[in-house]
Amino acid sequence: MSRTPITVAYGDGIGPEIMEASLRIFQAAGADIEIETIDIGEKVYLSGNSTGIAPGAWESLRRTKVFYKAPITTPQGGGYKSLNVTTRKTLGLYANVRPSVAYAPFVRTKHPKMDLVIVRENEEDLYAGIEHRQTDEVYQCLKLISRPGSEKIVRYAFEYARANNRKKVTAFTKDNIMKMTDGLFHKVFDEIGAEYPDLEKEHWIIDIGAAKMADTPEAFDVLVLPNLYGDVLSDVAAQIAGSVGLAGSANIGAHAAMFEAIHGSAPRRAGQNVANPSGLLLAGVMMMVHIGQPQAAETVHNAWLRTLEEGIHTYDIFADGISRQKVSTSGFADAVIERLGKQPETLAAVAYKAGGGVVATGAYSQREPEQKELVGVDVFLHYRDRDPNTLGQAVEAATNGDGVELVMISNRGQKVYPHGLPETFCTDHWRCRFMGVDNAPITHAQIIRLLGRFSDAGFDFIKTEHLVTFDGVAGYTLGQGQ
Ligand code: NAD
Repeated sequence: MSRTPITVAYGDGIGPEIMEASLRIFQAAGADIEIETIDIGEKVYLSGNSTGIAPGAWESLRRTKVFYKAPITTPQGGGYKSLNVTTRKTLGLYANVRPSVAYAPFVRTKHPKMDLVIVRENEEDLYAGIEHRQTDEVYQCLKLISRPGSEKIVRYAFEYARANNRKKVTAFTKDNIMKMTDGLFHKVFDEIGAEYPDLEKEHWIIDIGAAKMADTPEAFDVLVLPNLYGDVLSDVAAQIAGSVGLAGSANIGAHAAMFEAIHGSAPRRAGQNVANPSGLLLAGVMMMVHIGQPQAAETVHNAWLRTLEEGIHTYDIFADGISRQKVSTSGFADAVIERLGKQPETLAAVAYKAGGGVVATGAYSQREPEQKELVGVDVFLHYRDRDPNTLGQAVEAATNGDGVELVMISNRGQKVYPHGLPETFCTDHWRCRFMGVDNAPITHAQIIRLLGRFSDAGFDFIKTEHLVTFDGVAGYTLGQGQ
C-alpha cells in the first residue's frame, strides 16, 4: 500500500519544535505518511507576500488534500491577511471541529467530566466581512446565513456524532431575536436532525446555553454552532477544560482538511525546547483518523493519555502535587514514544475505527425555486434631524403615490413613525418601509421611480432592501413595535 502524502508546515516560534516532536511520535507509532513540506508564516509575510503562503504551496495542498499545520506568527502592523482565513476560504474548509476534554485529576479543571466537541460553521455568518459605514453614526456588518451552509455544517455535526459514538447533538442560536438567519439554522437543525433518530437532539437559546456550557459542560456532547457563536464558545470550552495548550482542531471541507493546535506560536518560548506539543499532537490524531489510519491515531492517543496520567508534564501544565516529572518538548515526545502500545489506567482509553474521521461531503438539498413576489421596499436614509414626525410627514408628502405608500419608519429597528414615543432614542439612520397600495405586488420600476422621488426631494438614501414573499411567506421581519 502506498503511503498517504500529507502537507506539513513547521510554522514559526515554537512551531518547528512541536511539529518535529509530533511527527516523531507518529512515525514511531507506524503512521504510514509521506511528508511534503511547505513554507508559511512570518518569513513568507516579510518577503512581501501579504497572504503568508507562497503560491507554489497551494499545488501541494491541492494534491495531498491534507494540511498538518504548526502555528505561525503574524507580523505586527497592517496589510497582513490571516493565513487561517485564507486557507479556510480558499480550500472551502467549512467545518471547524474542536474537542474540549478534561483530563482530571492530571490537569486541573473545575469540570472533571467535561468531554464535548464543538462543530463550528467556518465560512459564513458575520465573517463574510461585508461591512459598511452608512451614516455619521451608524456602521453595519451583514450577517449572512445560507441554507446550503447550514445544511452542510449541521449534517457534518450529525455524521461526526454518529461516527464517533456520540449520543447527542445540541445547537445554540438566538432565533428568538434573529428569526430569519438564526431561525434558518435552527430549522435546518430540526429537519436534518430528524434523519438521525439514533441521536438525541436539543436546541438552546445561545445566552442560556452558553451559560449552561460554562457552568455544566458535562451536560453537552456535540455542539453545532454558527460561526461567531462557535468562535467564542470554542475558546471558552478549551479554557474551562483545563488548558488551551492541550486542544487540537480540524478544519474540514469537501476537498481538503487542515489540522492544527488551537494555540499560537508563543514566540517567547521559541527555541527553548519547553513548549507542550500536545495540542498539535491531538490535531495529528484527528488527521490520522481522517486519512484512514485509526490504528496509529489510537496508539498515539492512548500513549499520550498514559504519559499525562503518569505525571510527565511540560512546564505549562506542571503542578506540584499532581505532576511527577517536568519534561522538555523532546523529552515529552520520548516519553510518549516509550509508552506506545500502552493504555491509560485511570483516564478512559480511546478507540478509533475506520470511517471515524468524517469526510465532509458538502452535500445539501437541491430545492425547487419558490414563487417570489415583490411586495414592498425598505429605503434607508441618512437624515440628521432627529424628529421622526417631521421626517415621516416630509417623506409621505414627497414620495407617496404611484401605487406605493409609506407604512412606517423605524430607527435601528424600532418603529418611530407613525405613533412613535418621544422617549425612543434616534440616530441619523432611518428605515422607511413602503408597501404596495392595498397589498398589491409592486415592480422594480416602481422602486426606481420611488428612489427618483426621494432624490428629487433631496433625501440622502443609503440603501434599499426589497420586501419579498416566497410561496406567500414573508421574507422579511416586521419592525419592533410594528
Ligand atoms: P499564543 O497561543 O502563542 O500564546 C499564549 C500563551 O500561551 C503564552 O504565554 C504562551 O507561552 C503559552 N503557550 C501557547 N502555546 C503553548 C504551548 N504549546 N506550550 C506551552 N505554552 C504555550 O498566543 P499569542 O501570544 O497571543 O500569539 C502569538 C503569535 O501566535 C501571534 O503572532 C499570533 O498571531 C499567532 N497565532 C497563530 C495562530 C495559528 O497559527 N493558528 C493562532 C493563534 C495565534
